[in-house]
Amino acid sequence: MRLVFASNNAHKLEEVRAIMPAGVDVLSLRDIGFEQEIEETGVTLEENSIIKARTVADFINGGMSASLNGVDGVFADDTGLEIDALNGEPGVYTARWYLMDEGAQEAKTEMENFARNRAKALRELKDKDNRGCQFRTVITLILLNGDDALNGENGGMIQVEGVVCGRMATEEYGEGGFGYDPIFIPEDYDKTFGELPAELKNTISHRARALAELVKVLHD
Ligand code: IMP
Repeated sequence: MRLVFASNNAHKLEEVRAIMPAGVDVLSLRDIGFEQEIEETGVTLEENSIIKARTVADFINGGMSASLNGVDGVFADDTGLEIDALNGEPGVYTARWYLMDEGAQEAKTEMENFARNRAKALRELKDKDNRGCQFRTVITLILLNGDDALNGENGGMIQVEGVVCGRMATEEYGEGGFGYDPIFIPEDYDKTFGELPAELKNTISHRARALAELVKVLHD
């Protein structure tokens, strides 16, 4: 099976390729010649993951990619960090949370963006004892070929989610992973995703769980 992963995030792509079982070939947006920025205008993770998958599916269906032989579908991941003490924030605004501060300027690099988001999280939780939180990933797959695409429920659209509960650290630990990983301690562990090996993150993470669910649905 060949699926296009509708994301410009190189970290997510690396994880998805490491997690997907043999037999599922994951193509990147670069592989199919898709170079646009997709605006995430949804107000839920569910909506944003549909917007990303749909935009790329339309690009493929419109015959705008020359390298699409045998592509079975497109999937997109939208992920949010949901912090209990902040009533589930930043949620759908996780990627650009730091920009919600008054007068905040756009970061110049991805690394700066990640660092400023982490600093905001630590600041917001400074005096809070309740550090509970979860990462939630919603994946939307749009099938492009076969009976399921044409006659399946929702016209070949499948949506699954994966959650990992945990707690927010009080400072940064480790340099692995990306985004909020150095301040997220998954349930049953006492180290952050930034410290734990990538192989472990890729078995217990929100993304790993959502992908396992997706693979299960595809096999059913
Ligand atoms: P989006 O799903 O592309 O909207 O990205 C949401 C944001 O969540 C990213 O920019 C990262 O800051 C963060 N994020 C997504 N997945 C992870 C993860 O696996 N670890 C840490 N942070 C993540």
